Amino acid sequence: MSSDLVIVYHRQPYEEVEENGKTVFREHQSPNGIVPTLKSFFRRAEKGSWIAWKQAEDTANPGFERIVEFDDKNGRYSVNRLPLTPEQVKSFYHVTSKEAFWPILHSFKEKYNYDPVDWPVFREVNWAFAEAAAAEAAEGAKVWIHDYNLWLVPGYLRQLRPDVVISFYHHTPFPSADMFNVLPWRKEIALSLLACDIVGFHIPRYAANFVSVVRSLADVDQTRRETVPEMMLSEGSALSDRSVPTAITFEGREILVATSPVGIDADYIESVASRPETAERVEELRKELGTSKMVLSVGRTDYTKGGRDQLLSYERLLEGSKDLRGQVRLMHVSVSANRNMSVYEDIQNEIEQIAGRINGRFGTFEWQPVALISRAIPFDDLVAYYKAADVAWITPMADGMNLVAKEFVACRDDNDGVLVLSEFAGASVQLSSAILTNPFSNRSMDTAIRQALDMEPEERRQRMELLRDNVKTYDIRQWADDQDLLLKKATAIRKAALT
Ligand code: UDP
Repeated sequence: MSSDLVIVYHRQPYEEVEENGKTVFREHQSPNGIVPTLKSFFRRAEKGSWIAWKQAEDTANPGFERIVEFDDKNGRYSVNRLPLTPEQVKSFYHVTSKEAFWPILHSFKEKYNYDPVDWPVFREVNWAFAEAAAAEAAEGAKVWIHDYNLWLVPGYLRQLRPDVVISFYHHTPFPSADMFNVLPWRKEIALSLLACDIVGFHIPRYAANFVSVVRSLADVDQTRRETVPEMMLSEGSALSDRSVPTAITFEGREILVATSPVGIDADYIESVASRPETAERVEELRKELGTSKMVLSVGRTDYTKGGRDQLLSYERLLEGSKDLRGQVRLMHVSVSANRNMSVYEDIQNEIEQIAGRINGRFGTFEWQPVALISRAIPFDDLVAYYKAADVAWITPMADGMNLVAKEFVACRDDNDGVLVLSEFAGASVQLSSAILTNPFSNRSMDTAIRQALDMEPEERRQRMELLRDNVKTYDIRQWADDQDLLLKKATAIRKAALT
């Protein structure tokens, strides 16, 4: 019981590798994941703890150090790895989180698979996280829990530790009540979230959905609403709202409802973008392209990312516009999830099949219309693709935020390049100067890509300048400052309530 900040996130905050028979902990390769930002919060604490899981055949004798101590640039913190059996991992993570919650969070009711869920296992794993957090937290500590696979942790933790400040941040969308309430465990989840002091989301719409969900399930009052901050007031997006709920009350307690869209490390990305090696790589890529324009699409292979519909739109584009044949190439990066789940294998197969068909129908000896890449591109290399692209085509059917769109913008210090962005990505409420498109409409998709390819340089410059302003102003540092402020505010509210 010693940490004043406990972060509960199912992933470990480093990569664990074996080198010369020794275990070595390395920073995660992707500089933009949320992990480095979360770790940096330990600098603001006297002592921090991180709770994650690690698979073990025998949980009583896991064969690894359960608690590892760190003292590095992020300060002093320990990482507590909960040993979970392969069966627990499968049930809690692959089945309940990915087959039941994920489709509902992204409003894909038809992919929702309820039958294989073993709810007692989900409870048991969440209880283990709550117990570990309770054991680590000092009196009045801040406990910061992340994402839907830990939805029951706040409720359990509150039972164990009434004194701590609990904040929960959702990295995904949060659906409307008619979607969320499909979950048979809806009330249990809602009551757990109502045990928090802060419940956080990327954008106002998700916060509003959360409030309507908890009001449909419990006696909750909405106490405060505010006008949406200007940088989140995009007119054109399906996810736009004009006001945002900021607090609710439940059983006499005030719960802050927070909206703060995750940003990117714009300074770091700009520094990679301006390296001479990046310029050389961009040059190489442009040479390979010749006179063709490059359209870039980047995402995980997931039905929510809209890869299938995008490829079909590209096929229609080539079908209808003979002038574009030989003049455009689509670089479609669809990183395989490698989860051995049939739903992801199906979408991967479908994408490969459509890309193959497009290349077969329209390709020539000199020109391949689609380059499909299924492996993850290292970030430094990805930056060169962002810089070389004429158009970034990012069209998820649903996406909590979408950092790829923001990274593309951050790279474009030449103020060129066009962003085509789905209005169902959280980022669309900030990036209104992109060409916003509706991925559920063929006409909207087809018009948007053609408009992007035809856009004049002056309009490209004007739009990109506005986009860059937004992405650089509300970057990851601003997000972190907002979180810090919220935690302080909630601490003051809890202190006042306890005295
Ligand atoms: N990414 C990468 N290499 C790739 C594809 C993606 O490093 O080949 C990174 C990308 O830079 C971004 C992250 O993966 O930081 C994807 O984040 P996003 O919010 O767009 O989507 P998510 O996968 O979290 O739904």
